[in-house]
Amino acid sequence: MYSIAKNFINGEWTDSDTGETFESINPADASEIIGVVSKSGKADVDKAVGAARDAYDGWRLKPPPKRGEILFRVAELLASRKQDLGELMTREMGKILPEALGDVQEAIDMSYYMAGEGRRLAGETVPSELPNKDCKSIRVPIGVCALITPWNFPIAIPAWKIMPALVSGNTIVFKPSSHTAVCATKCVEILQEAGIPEGVVNLVHGRGEDTGEYLASHPAIDGLSFTGSTAVGEKIAKTCAGQGKKVSCEMGGKNAIIVMDDARIELAVEGALWGGFGTTGQRCTAASRVVVHEGVYERFLSSFTRAASKIRIGNGLLEETDMGPLINKTQMEKVLNYIEIGKGEGAELAFGGKAYGERDCVKGFFVEPTIFSEVRPRMRIAREEIFGPVVCVIKARDLQDAIRIVNDADYGLVSAIYTQDVNKSAIAERELNTGIVYINASTIGAEIQLPFGGTKKSGFGHEEAGGRGGALDMFTKWKVIYRDFSGKLQKAQIDR
Ligand code: NAD
Repeated sequence: MYSIAKNFINGEWTDSDTGETFESINPADASEIIGVVSKSGKADVDKAVGAARDAYDGWRLKPPPKRGEILFRVAELLASRKQDLGELMTREMGKILPEALGDVQEAIDMSYYMAGEGRRLAGETVPSELPNKDCKSIRVPIGVCALITPWNFPIAIPAWKIMPALVSGNTIVFKPSSHTAVCATKCVEILQEAGIPEGVVNLVHGRGEDTGEYLASHPAIDGLSFTGSTAVGEKIAKTCAGQGKKVSCEMGGKNAIIVMDDARIELAVEGALWGGFGTTGQRCTAASRVVVHEGVYERFLSSFTRAASKIRIGNGLLEETDMGPLINKTQMEKVLNYIEIGKGEGAELAFGGKAYGERDCVKGFFVEPTIFSEVRPRMRIAREEIFGPVVCVIKARDLQDAIRIVNDADYGLVSAIYTQDVNKSAIAERELNTGIVYINASTIGAEIQLPFGGTKKSGFGHEEAGGRGGALDMFTKWKVIYRDFSGKLQKAQIDR
């Protein structure tokens, strides 16, 4: 039985003006329809933006602790439905159930965390250089925000954006990925149930190239928060910059793990497996490069391929499955094409490399965990984001060489180093040009109380997740207040 995923505009669940729909399907079994989804046109986006604009004054003036109380209820509802939401996510997007439950948990954590921010949202009170005058800075909302999200974290990423946007006093128009429209709809149902007033949260479904593009360029949007591919993010950023909108883009990655000759190899192998093949390699933080010291290269490679051969591929709802499908046929073909590119470039296929169609997997979009060895840093497979279970193992002479290889990339989201040497870890921490660095841990494992984001083509904003300078800085702007109670004209800088 499939769900109907409608738009949510001004507190009403509505069909789109176009009357058209599209289907969201199960990537582990393409014959299963998960949802029939409204396909929004421009009129739907206009209505959603209008509703958010009308609701803005009421919401901005609601005391932040009261806004936080609603988010607390959202967290409780998410927690009470964690299992159902996790199972739905596995069916709609393919990641294995434990990971899907982790995705929901991240949204629960973010909702509790931002509920608490309702009682902080702190600015600064500082002294004035003049007598009988005081000064302070306060955080105020941006206004109406558009939130555009990808499919790989169908509930966590929307929560990273929705909760800080709301607690800060913004109203929103949320455009989730068309591949995970049902998960998004369930989240908005929870927001409604928790008591979000009409018009404060609006949901429009649709494809990126029409609904998303029209929303991103809408003149009545004040701020835009996007997570997705670099190509789309750069396009959106240009549009927003030209319109003077506040914008934050979290984009792609080509993340790397360094394995030094003094590393605990078994720990590094576990990290490379989790980083490379977790979520079928479809994470912005996936470790698609492993840069290994030449002294332990062969030892690492043989343990890594042996461990990869034990990965069990299948439907993510089955307890025995370690790795699920890719999101759709296009992505599967893209990954298989990159495998051919890698072979053509002269990399050695150390493991995997084919579509996987055993048992029921023939119905979905499965690819074997794939490891390339003898990869050189300038090869396309070592530079471009493949977004699938393909890991390039690259040899390095020493720490400096390894750091140079990692930094010689267009992206800069996450890096990691495995070493037992405290000095090497300190140098890596300082020199790796990525937004996030892990030491003796894989590239996966961001926590919501810290900012999240990258350098170079991985994005700008660091708006996601928590951290005082993270999400709140994106979703608020500063207002500065000077109050003169001297009863006479005082001139700053001049009366000194
Ligand atoms: P995508 O760029 O194709 O789509 C992301 C969202 O943008 C979707 O909602 C889509 O409908 C919309 N969109 C597409 N074209 C648009 C346009 N022209 N105008 C406006 N909106 C448009 O990305 P995806 O395939 O959904 O997600 C995978 C990508 O996301 C990968 O590159 C991955 O690295 C990246 N990602 C980054 C982070 C991060 O935090 N840095 C997190 C998760 C995923």
